[in-house]
Amino acid sequence: MITAVYPGSFDPATYGHLDIIRRASSSFDRIVVGVLHNSAKSPLFSVEERVNILQKATKDMPNVIIKPFEGLSVNFARENDAKVIVRGLRAVTDFEYELQMAQTNKVLAPEIETIFLTTSLEYAYVSSTIMKEVAKFNGDLVNFAPQEIIDELKSKLCIGNR
Ligand code: ADP
Repeated sequence: MITAVYPGSFDPATYGHLDIIRRASSSFDRIVVGVLHNSAKSPLFSVEERVNILQKATKDMPNVIIKPFEGLSVNFARENDAKVIVRGLRAVTDFEYELQMAQTNKVLAPEIETIFLTTSLEYAYVSSTIMKEVAKFNGDLVNFAPQEIIDELKSKLCIGNR
């Protein structure tokens, strides 16, 4: 059985994340999505909220589980008996950072492979950061995330369903 972990901030999850999770879930036996609790960052949603949002959004994917984690992704992978870390690549801008992270993780944990899934074209521009910006100015979020996540985001930002 091959387990892969998919670590990230997911603040909140978007169609881009959900697409990577769905595609990874058909390539591996089990996907453990790791929601990063990073005390140095101040996310909009708490780690519990981000876990909850992802649990609801992935409820039709039986081999996907969502867990909070702190610290190094390689330790999270080891704790979950995962041999693979999945990351998504959108554009060249992601590449440099992701390559450096993958190389660092290889040094820290040689037994773990990082595998990149390239974004589906329709979600190439989607990021949690851009989605939050669009939400603040009451833009149309329909292409960014499922309605339940849009509702969570609007209520967090105290924006009515205009
Ligand atoms: P991080 O803070 O670790 O960058 P994110 O939640 O922003 O966390 O992203 C987690 C992972 O999902 C990263 O590998 C990122 O490149 C990938 N990702 C984010 N948005 C998309 C998207 N639209 N398409 C494909 N991959 C994506």
